[in-house]
Amino acid sequence: MQPINKTVTIIGAGLAGLTAAYDLQRAGWNVVVLEARDRVGGRVYSIRSFARGQVAEGGGEYIDAHHTRMIALAKEFNLKLGLSGSWQSQSGDWACFEGKAGRVTDKAIWGFDLAEEIERGWAAMAELSKNISDPYQPQTAHEAERLDAMSAADWIRVVDVHPIAKKYFITHIRSEYTCEPERLSLLDLCRNAKMYYSSTERLPSSRVIGGNDLGTDQQSYLYCAAYGNGNFIVRGFGPAPFQMNGGRGGANPAVNKAAGPGEPVTQEIALSVKGDRVECAINGTVVAGYDKSALVTAGKLTSTDGVYGLRFAHNTEVIVTGLGITRN
Ligand SMILES: Cc1cc2nc3c(=O)[nH]c(=O)nc-3n(C[C@H](O)[C@H](O)[C@H](O)COP(=O)(O)OP(=O)(O)OC[C@H]3O[C@@H](n4cnc5c(N)ncnc54)[C@H](O)[C@@H]3O)c2cc1C
Repeated sequence: MQPINKTVTIIGAGLAGLTAAYDLQRAGWNVVVLEARDRVGGRVYSIRSFARGQVAEGGGEYIDAHHTRMIALAKEFNLKLGLSGSWQSQSGDWACFEGKAGRVTDKAIWGFDLAEEIERGWAAMAELSKNISDPYQPQTAHEAERLDAMSAADWIRVVDVHPIAKKYFITHIRSEYTCEPERLSLLDLCRNAKMYYSSTERLPSSRVIGGNDLGTDQQSYLYCAAYGNGNFIVRGFGPAPFQMNGGRGGANPAVNKAAGPGEPVTQEIALSVKGDRVECAINGTVVAGYDKSALVTAGKLTSTDGVYGLRFAHNTEVIVTGLGITRN
């Protein structure tokens, strides 16, 4: 790609800004991203502070089956996706209403078929979508004015489902739209129904598993580096630094030696994760290997899933060729 000698400034390091920056940089632009907060991600924010190994999402989480660009990006950055069922509702869902709690499918708890009542509510929601022809122009709907004068609460009042299922939809409106149903225009609920709920078929969504928080104070990663004196090191951050082959590393005949201090040297380095093993190969020879259990443990890695990259020592001039990932 020919560099374009122009700079573009992007305001905001949310998904939109970061994706634009990534695409523009690959197209040859100089890119500057300005972010007001002290972190990137915007409305996507993973919270990992309450228990080791546990991740809660404070913002965007579910990648729907039709979010093809997000799925392609996750693949490109080697982020592992796990199927999570539909974000709308799942077969194993639990609920807690009126002092009772348990699976929505458990008739013994509720005294009636709550799951079926909720399904009837979703079917009624799908019916709402028929009020809208173009979700991007809801104001052009046949009855736009009348619908906009009503609220989601008006719909919940008349929808023909059990009172506890009504409470389920009140909770849905609160959590999805972060407002009371009285504050949500019925026209907007119809618009959302058109976009997301017009079919009662539930496609599974995905969530990113693991990740390594690169660039944060919680970063967790492993690296293998070769020196021009024939030594190599395997170290990491979890987030505190840890060493896998001692403070000074170890020598291995596979590591190429430079002719002298400051002289160039070429090393081919590969880190592989296969089954339960993590191995580092230098110039085609495996110089170190570990069971995953020795790496994914307290004080070391949180996961062997995530993105890959490069780490350099200070004052090193490096030419990188052939950086990539191979999946078997
Ligand atoms: C609780 C919650 C749950 C969600 N769940 C899902 C979900 O499951 N699936 C899904 O697909 N979507 C979900 N979303 C929506 C999704 O998170 C957003 O659509 C998406 O993250 C928006 O990305 P963005 O880059 O457009 O905006 P943002 O993420 O808002 O990024 C904008 C960035 O710009 C910065 N900024 C703003 N003004 C300035 C300025 N003047 N100067 C410098 N920086 C500035 C902000 O600080 C922010 O970092 C959810 C959102 C929330 C809040």
